[in-house]
Amino acid sequence: APYQVVDVHELLDATLVMFRAKVPTGVRVVREYDRSLPPIPAYAAELNQVWTNLIDNALGAMGDEGTLTVRTGRIDDLLTVEVADTGAGIPAQVRPRIFEPFFTTKPVGAGTGLGLDISYRIVVNKHHGDIRVTSAPGNTVFRVLLPTTPVPG
Ligand code: ADP
Ligand code: MG
Repeated sequence: APYQVVDVHELLDATLVMFRAKVPTGVRVVREYDRSLPPIPAYAAELNQVWTNLIDNALGAMGDEGTLTVRTGRIDDLLTVEVADTGAGIPAQVRPRIFEPFFTTKPVGAGTGLGLDISYRIVVNKHHGDIRVTSAPGNTVFRVLLPTTPVPG
């Protein structure tokens, strides 16, 4: 897949459309987009996989009711994409392991435990960005940071 200049909001919207039928009626989807952000060089299909994994986890954490927020912004020279949910949060003893391949707290058959491992590799290794998480009961935020200028390699 090509490394090309893309509008992250278009990618996020395309991913949200894919989820439309899977969002329970009691879950509100809020988009807080900073439309002044520049397009960035990225692997579009891979980034869509990241949004898909993060949104899938967020929806899974909330069940029938809650709010999914997808937010864009900027920190210094990095573009940020946040996927936030109002679910139960990530227990402190679980938190250190969530990016490990095959780590899952979901029932057998429900989760592969690969979503965050793959997402981490796409963001960090392929885009030279970072993924950070903050979590408390009722408020979990995964923040993806991406360079806005091309990174060699
Ligand atoms: P899977 O979704 O297949 O379990 P992931 O790699 O996507 O695998 O996530 C690993 C684990 O991280 C999940 O099983 C869950 O325990 C935790 N996790 C990820 N996202 C969230 C979230 N938004 N809220 C609570 N826990 C989460
Ligand atoms: Mg997952």
